[in-house]
Amino acid sequence: MSDRSDRPRVVVLGGGFAGLGAAQKLAKADADVVLVDRHDYHTFQPLLYQLATGLLEPSAVGHSIRDLVHHDHQDNVTVHKTQVTAIDLDAREVTLEGMAPLTFDFLVLGLGAEVTFFGTEGAPEHAFPMYTLPDAIRLKEHVLGKWEAADKDPGLIEDGALNIVVVGGGPTGVESAGAIAELYRADFARDYPAIPQEKARVVLVEAGPDVFGMFKPNLRTYAREALEKRTVEVVTGARVASVAPTRVMLKSGEEISAHTLVWGAGLQGNQLVQSLGLELERGNRIGVGPDLTVVGHPDVYAVGDIAAITDAKTEQVLPQLGSVALQSGEHVGETIARRIAGKEPKPFKYRDKGTMAMIGRGAAVVQMLGGKTMKGMKAQAAWGVVHLALLPTNEDRAKAIVDWAGAGLTHQRTGRISYESEVNTSR
Ligand SMILES: Cc1cc2nc3c(=O)[nH]c(=O)nc-3n(C[C@H](O)[C@H](O)[C@H](O)COP(=O)(O)OP(=O)(O)OC[C@H]3O[C@@H](n4cnc5c(N)ncnc54)[C@H](O)[C@@H]3O)c2cc1C
Repeated sequence: MSDRSDRPRVVVLGGGFAGLGAAQKLAKADADVVLVDRHDYHTFQPLLYQLATGLLEPSAVGHSIRDLVHHDHQDNVTVHKTQVTAIDLDAREVTLEGMAPLTFDFLVLGLGAEVTFFGTEGAPEHAFPMYTLPDAIRLKEHVLGKWEAADKDPGLIEDGALNIVVVGGGPTGVESAGAIAELYRADFARDYPAIPQEKARVVLVEAGPDVFGMFKPNLRTYAREALEKRTVEVVTGARVASVAPTRVMLKSGEEISAHTLVWGAGLQGNQLVQSLGLELERGNRIGVGPDLTVVGHPDVYAVGDIAAITDAKTEQVLPQLGSVALQSGEHVGETIARRIAGKEPKPFKYRDKGTMAMIGRGAAVVQMLGGKTMKGMKAQAAWGVVHLALLPTNEDRAKAIVDWAGAGLTHQRTGRISYESEVNTSR
């Protein structure tokens, strides 16, 4: 007996902004949609740094994929929580861990990006990347553990137990460094009054000449000043050579005593793309045409971080952003639905929401594709509006508003409690 109905099968790989966007737009299509993700939750990555610093709870960052696809009573979608282990584009088959392979009529590749340590010695074992929900929880638990240990044994402070090195002057590194500094100088200063704050350094290391290299010079200067105002030590033109459990070595030979290194420095397209037999673009990303199909495979689409999508207006490759992932995923969902209904597909047009990043409370930057910029409170408000729109449901939006308003008014990080015994925090 065949496992297939007579309807076309659309297999969506990845339940990030891109994959979910595609699956949701297929709600009314006369098709069987199968969504596969290694997690049963969708990760709202822009808020990971808030989870890592105790501002938000895990439920504000991870949302059940099954809830999200069934939210609008979408009954043509099946969700499988499993690892994709291989994809054969010519045979139209996806191999999954612990399950029979899935054949497809249409395939949506939305497997996102993953961290790369650029071969830095000791980084895979000892660095704390900021990419997944467990990454954020692991970092929070580790930092809380260090402060509790130093509270009991002040000798650890001299060894740099409370110092944190953050690698990468892009949005992930800057957001993390800014939030950690605020956690240290406000909450931990109050929680551990006997520990001298000057012995708990937050050092941001960036290889380029400035932080926020992707933004205009006025925003770069603003970001550096905002970080320094929050006591982050900004070190530019420096590279990390190696990482050990309690030390970070820079290429210059300088050694920083630090028991924590947060890695916000590099991403590359999901490793699986290397086995697809495709010519890849910079950063291991899959090049796509104006309709987001993969060259030579008219029924295979790549969306979100895994894809190198060229903007029709500017002819530049779009950045790896939530709004690009959501819009490209939704476009492909609509396109496949149109094709199944016998209608002509339309080319993808990106509606620019701006590239934006937070630095700390009341400090953010925004830059539009056309070059217009914003900073400070105004940029923070724009960040809030754009990120609320990315949240998957109205309930999540309402919850985020309450959480953000609460944190803004009380400045309290109620999530800074430890589940240490249940989570592996070893470096
Ligand atoms: C720390 C951080 C902060 C960010 N901040 C912002 C921000 O402020 N604003 C903004 O717009 N963007 C931000 N981004 C970028 C944004 O989050 C991404 O562009 C977006 O999440 C990409 O969506 P995606 O669906 O392409 O990939 P992802 O969201 O990465 O989703 C990919 C999915 O595929 C699944 N998957 C991967 N491999 C497999 C496999 N082999 N088998 C099964 N499942 C698999 C994963 O579990 C995941 O759910 C941030 C990113 C990070 C890491």
